Amino acid sequence: EKVYLNGKIVTADNAKISVFDRGFLFGDGIYEVMVQLENGMFYKKAHLDRLQDNLDKIGIPYNVKEIDDNLDGFLHAAGLEGESCLIYMQVTRGVAPRKHAYPKNVPPSVMMYALPYNLPPINLKNMKAVLEPDFRWHRCDIKSISLLGNIMTNETAMNANTDEAVLVRNGMISEGSHTNIFFVKDGNVITHPANEHILNGISRQIVIKLCRKLEIPVIEKPVAENEIKNMDEAFFTGTTTQVASIAQLGHHVFYENDAIGEVTARLQKAFAELRKLDTSQ
Ligand code: PLP
Repeated sequence: EKVYLNGKIVTADNAKISVFDRGFLFGDGIYEVMVQLENGMFYKKAHLDRLQDNLDKIGIPYNVKEIDDNLDGFLHAAGLEGESCLIYMQVTRGVAPRKHAYPKNVPPSVMMYALPYNLPPINLKNMKAVLEPDFRWHRCDIKSISLLGNIMTNETAMNANTDEAVLVRNGMISEGSHTNIFFVKDGNVITHPANEHILNGISRQIVIKLCRKLEIPVIEKPVAENEIKNMDEAFFTGTTTQVASIAQLGHHVFYENDAIGEVTARLQKAFAELRKLDTSQ
């Protein structure tokens, strides 16, 4: 297995980093995950733009063009050129004596790796999720490598033998531990607005665009936990989840059997069509 680390391609065994890296000490870094499909990297530009935006937001001086320029060469070295794979990228503020203050003139640490990966079937359904308090911070728009809140809540979902934890802040549904969530009510698609309480998923943005194309009205507003029972359909979006129909959320059962809502099914189909195109730019 190959790893890209600070401009070099090395084997995973030789990919070593200082214990004084601020990613290790503070979780001071940004990450990104995207997939390569048969027709190219799925929304590569959108993912790299988000990575750049996030680095700019937290003041890590790094131009993601370097990652972009090295991606093809890296995948070739990893034996994954043109193969279906998952690409993980991470940039931290670099190695410096442990002090809260941002260090000056320290090069960021840049790492990426790729794994063979096949996306799940396009028609994922029967997802079950627990509801958990969203005790994360107020900058969930930042794709921070500090994912403690996300992994702790996800663990409650795992312990309950479900697929995802859906987070509730002040009585309002924000997002999943690693997904965005959408609802359908009377033909309208409803999802939390892209503010500091959710990560603005690339898949979320794609689905909103698909709704516009399919002339399905989209309302960007938070849904209250006590309104779940009045919703007609619900689904998750995410890079590895794509569009996945939710059968049960908390105590509310949307479907008893293998059923899937009409709007969710339409969006799944439209999303799957995009996989046949080159969306990398
Ligand atoms: N929300 C959170 C908290 C996430 O971690 C993720 C993805 O990892 C998403 C939403 C979905 O984002 P995307 O569609 O860009 O994968």
